[in-house]
Amino acid sequence: AAKSDGRGCYRLYAPPLGKAIQKRQLLAEELRLALNRSGDLALWYQPIMDSSGQNMLGVEALLRWTHPVWGSISPADFIPVAEETGLILPLGDWVIRQACLMAQRCPGLTISINVSPLQFLSPNFFAHLSASVQQHGISPHQLELEITESVLLGEQQQVLELLQRLRRTGYRIALDDFGTGYSSLNYLMQFPVDTLKIDRCFIQLLGIQAQANAIVESVIALGHSLGLRITAEGVETESQRLALAAAGCDKLQGFLLSPPQPVEKLFLMLKQPSG
Ligand code: C2E
Ligand code: MG
Ligand code: MG
Ligand code: MG
Repeated sequence: AAKSDGRGCYRLYAPPLGKAIQKRQLLAEELRLALNRSGDLALWYQPIMDSSGQNMLGVEALLRWTHPVWGSISPADFIPVAEETGLILPLGDWVIRQACLMAQRCPGLTISINVSPLQFLSPNFFAHLSASVQQHGISPHQLELEITESVLLGEQQQVLELLQRLRRTGYRIALDDFGTGYSSLNYLMQFPVDTLKIDRCFIQLLGIQAQANAIVESVIALGHSLGLRITAEGVETESQRLALAAAGCDKLQGFLLSPPQPVEKLFLMLKQPSG
């Protein structure tokens, strides 16, 4: 049986609690092993395009885990376990190093990295990030950090200072899955971010539910009036793309444009003139 995760996205039916805990512990142990072997982990890259869908503006790094016996495991399943167990800290560092290596290999490319709340709020985050950026000789301008609204609900002064420090240094900040958390645009004005990524759940309903069009259009308009860039996540159809382009959406991401790609495939796409 499938069960909605409440965002219109389907997940495998959750087993009874005892088994779920066992499964999580097993997953955590295997993830720890994978981190030490690290051949089972990879970053894939999904192009982020302009609203015409023709030009690549950057890529989002997405973690992939292929277990030697279980096969591929979804980040939706293992990222929460990594957060609960603290494994997200070494895992997040690994992601940052891989993304920096990719940025070094592709000097013109902007790479967006997902940063979990625990990782972002850990005391060493800025130091680890800077060390990796310096080690690879890249510019912070090449990196965008994707955080979620839940981060902003934490220790506000600390979050504000970190965001300011990151942006002063040249990193860009995107607010991921926008619209699924608890913040409002009004609340957002206090926090210096560059980009809002409108969650796929809203994009999916474009042309199907009039409210979705109204919400997306007003997020774009209000976001622009606050000086933010807007990205639409999960764009799957040409009619969604047209609605988003008409509403002035700056960037598009989704299967219509391209699914996430392994490194070698991304290299091939970057060599093509049309992106
Ligand atoms: P996200 O950051 O919102 O990433 C977008 C997700 O939507 C990705 O799922 C991507 O493959 C998927 N997607 C992109 N376009 C489409 C589309 O047109 N249709 C549909 N149905 N899906 C689309 P993925 O790779 O499974 O990642 C899921 C989530 O796991 C991410 O959501 C992010 O929150 C987390 N995640 C992935 N990699 C990392 C990582 O390196 N670090 C952290 N902390 N979290 C990560
Ligand atoms: Mg993301
Ligand atoms: Mg997202
Ligand atoms: Mg999402």
